[in-house]
Amino acid sequence: MTHVPPGSGWSDDPAQPDTPVAHDPAEVRELASASRTLAELTAAQSVCRACPRLVEWREEVATVKRRAFAEETYWGRPIAGWGEEKPEVLIVGLAPAAHGGNRTGRIFTGDRSGDWLFASLHRTGLAAQETSVRAGDGQRLIGARMVAAVRCAPPANKPDPSERAACFPWLTREVALVAGSVQVVVALGGFAWQAIWPALKDAGYVLPRPRPAFGHGAEVEISHHGRPVYLLGCYHPSQQNTFTGRVTAEMLDRLFTRANALRGA
Ligand code: SF4
Repeated sequence: MTHVPPGSGWSDDPAQPDTPVAHDPAEVRELASASRTLAELTAAQSVCRACPRLVEWREEVATVKRRAFAEETYWGRPIAGWGEEKPEVLIVGLAPAAHGGNRTGRIFTGDRSGDWLFASLHRTGLAAQETSVRAGDGQRLIGARMVAAVRCAPPANKPDPSERAACFPWLTREVALVAGSVQVVVALGGFAWQAIWPALKDAGYVLPRPRPAFGHGAEVEISHHGRPVYLLGCYHPSQQNTFTGRVTAEMLDRLFTRANALRGA
């Protein structure tokens, strides 16, 4: 099977068999702006087929699989935003991993980066459990939501500029739909930092110029309709970063503790 059919019983599947499918960037723009709720938006995100290279890759990976997961059914579809409907903390990543999110159907779930991230979110009160293994495992975010700048696993973890552009309306619309409650935005890694600025601008945030440089602990005050909101930079808990000690559990915990302090939790 190349992917899980929408509405076929996968836990947390936001889509149904009749969810409209975007086949090109123009249809992404159309469906994203027509989505009035997060439920509609995430349903449409999760069946998108606008990027031929990424559709082919995600479905090939889901068919060939990795030996360790040979018995599992891979999700093989885009990874929609996930978490609370009215989050105070919005966590932004770049793209799902081929055998992580593309397998489990949930963002940052099923790979080492996610293990580090969810452990820290749990220690800092933002996740109910210390691991996120698969849809239906009881994990949930508390006061938080996660989104990826690009929703499909890219070959070599590198989406093309055209693919980032195609996926951008999904990101912008989601940022806009949660803007009423968000108090802190956390960008995981430099790519997510770059991707979130234009999305925030499109969603009506007032941003400083020039754009401050990304760094771990970088903190920028922005605003939405006069209300202060904070953007935090966080090194990506990639295997390379955690293995080399560039990112430690303490660094992640400090960052999310700071996010909690900024939202007044
Ligand atoms: S990367 Fe985004 S725009 Fe491209 S197919 Fe996946 S969900 Fe659609």
